[in-house]
Amino acid sequence: MSAVGPFPWHAAQWQRVAAARNAGRLPHSLLLAGPAGLGKAAFARRLSDALVCTQAAESGDACGACPACRLSRAGSHPDQHVLAPEEPGKMIRIDAVRELTTKSVLAAQAGGYRVFILDPAEQMNRAAANALLKTLEEPVSRSVLILVSSHPDRLPATIRSRCQTIKFTLPSADQVRACLQGRAEPSEFDELLAVSGGSPLRALQALEQGWIGEGRRLILELTALRQRKTNPLQIVEEWEKRPLTLVFDGLKRCVSDLVRLASGMAQGAIYHPGLRADLQSLGRGIDLQKLFLFNDELLQIERDAARNLNVQMMFEHIANLWLQITRPGGQ
Ligand SMILES: [Zn+2]
Repeated sequence: MSAVGPFPWHAAQWQRVAAARNAGRLPHSLLLAGPAGLGKAAFARRLSDALVCTQAAESGDACGACPACRLSRAGSHPDQHVLAPEEPGKMIRIDAVRELTTKSVLAAQAGGYRVFILDPAEQMNRAAANALLKTLEEPVSRSVLILVSSHPDRLPATIRSRCQTIKFTLPSADQVRACLQGRAEPSEFDELLAVSGGSPLRALQALEQGWIGEGRRLILELTALRQRKTNPLQIVEEWEKRPLTLVFDGLKRCVSDLVRLASGMAQGAIYHPGLRADLQSLGRGIDLQKLFLFNDELLQIERDAARNLNVQMMFEHIANLWLQITRPGGQ
């Protein structure tokens, strides 16, 4: 079900990079920046394949047939490197960056470019970022560093300024619908567009993982908790049975919708337009400031998750907080 590139909404960015390469002006460091769910990692991979290929086409793509392409398809090309956190949400280690900087001073082994992908680039701590800066300051010929980031604002300015930024933006709603064509019922398209925030790959993920059904379930659970028909322990037990990100991201979307509805900013711009009435009755009478606090707390938990992830404690905290802000009498 997951889609693979090349994606039609990458056309302009690809042309720009291909033209730079054909003109011999490819920068040493590129930053692929833009919202999640646009396939930036697939773009980085496509570029990496093209750069190690020894017979790349005029369009900039790898030929797919030369010995270098065969190696990269098997995942064993010696000049292709990907740096990522060991676990999602964790930081990229300084050792890994040091290893990369050592490798980058050596010439490419197979005659093409040497390519390094850092994804997600913002998951670098300061020490790792400083080590990387050294590499960027001593550009080695035929070596290309590709930073991928959905939160480029979290990258040190010193890193950003040394990269040429390739911006990715949300495609039109019609392009997202085209991506869903044949995968979802046309009647579901608009809700999938809303729940994914207009991002095509997220829309596919939403379909695959059932984000809309999860939203419905969370609203029922939060309603039961608000009405004291269940307790935090029972809710946490239920949440722990489901994938962590499904529940956590689902909670973030629901609470964001509650805030937008309560503050009157939600004319059509919520994640769950199909559940608007349920959300309205769930949030009725809750102080807007408390909803804002709850929303901030979820975002804070997300930021802390890289360091500390005791799922049960985190869920208990969230359920208890909900209980607090929905306490009858409002205290
Ligand atoms: Zn090739």
